[in-house]
Amino acid sequence: TRVLLTGGSGFIAAHVLDILLERGHSVVTTVRSQEKADKIASAHESYGKDKLSFAIVEDIAQEHAFDKAVVSDPPFEAVIHTASPFHFNVTDVQKQLLDPAIIGTTGVLRSIKKSAPSVKRVVITSSFASILDAFKGNNPGHTYSEEDWNPITKEQAPENPANGYRASKTFAERAAWDFIEQEKPNFTLATMCPPLVLGPIVHYLNSLDGLNTSNQRIRDIMLGKAKDEIPPTGTFIWVDVRDLALCHVLAMEKEEAANKRFFITAGYFSNKEIAEIIAKHYPQYKEGLPTSSTPGGDYPGDGLYKYNNERVKKVLGIEFRSLEESIVDTVKSLQAVGA
Ligand code: NDP
Repeated sequence: TRVLLTGGSGFIAAHVLDILLERGHSVVTTVRSQEKADKIASAHESYGKDKLSFAIVEDIAQEHAFDKAVVSDPPFEAVIHTASPFHFNVTDVQKQLLDPAIIGTTGVLRSIKKSAPSVKRVVITSSFASILDAFKGNNPGHTYSEEDWNPITKEQAPENPANGYRASKTFAERAAWDFIEQEKPNFTLATMCPPLVLGPIVHYLNSLDGLNTSNQRIRDIMLGKAKDEIPPTGTFIWVDVRDLALCHVLAMEKEEAANKRFFITAGYFSNKEIAEIIAKHYPQYKEGLPTSSTPGGDYPGDGLYKYNNERVKKVLGIEFRSLEESIVDTVKSLQAVGA
């Protein structure tokens, strides 16, 4: 399949790219600069230009950002849209989170409808943030599934960066489903809703300081920041980046994924468990790691929501990696950039 992958320099997208190429697809990926394109290209030298090439899209928050990128020869048959800001380092929620998420999503869909009629499937990276009702806290007794939508409002979005991020994902995914309903385009949609994504980084794009948001807790635990107290876990469900990347590709390939939302989680985890796995496999970090008597980082005492991940297992046939495997491989990848 001829695929456009947006945000190819991202943590998750780097794995989507590798799986697409391994499975023989032909990919154009968007990045924000030629410098990033060059780094990705040199890490994939064995693939010719017919298998991997680049389009520069500097800012997805600009209307028409994707007008040129969706046009290719041979024409695209699928689009995987992952690009969206994921960090909490913002002063202006509207400009830094909501606009790129929402305009990025509606913009790519409009460009496809207008200029890429050969596209049959679009896969969008949404999030558990668009499912979870964070105002209900740990919500014991509730089972989250694809049926749930985060009820966050426009008024709540700018209250703080966490609200802003969750709202950006919720509104962007809603806008995508609304687009399908109202515009009746030539393509079908599948959305990916993962909670916290952990797993190895690709070394050629990364540094310890510039690490993607979701892996920062692993880096911080390795570097001794949880020695006296383990920080709160926050979200208690997770998935490995390689499993999630495979879900993106399967959702593109499989007819049955059409017009479905996928809640993609491997299960529960806590920061305490992450620290225990690091201690077990990497004794060289022991000095800076918490011990069994260090406070914090555990599951909540008063119960926790449940999750239903049956659809992704059934429709996409995914088997999830264990937390232990994921953490061991993540630590190894962080060592390669100097941890
Ligand atoms: P990264 O920060 O590594 O990737 C984000 C990507 O989006 C980068 O390629 C970034 O480019 C690009 N991007 C952000 N803003 C813009 C913009 N204004 N214009 C153009 N490109 C932009 O994070 P992840 O890989 O983790 O995130 C990828 C997707 O997965 C996002 O949609 C995120 O919401 C979603 N997600 C992630 C989870 C996680 O735990 N990691 C959990 C649930 C969902 P650049 O780096 O050049 O700025």
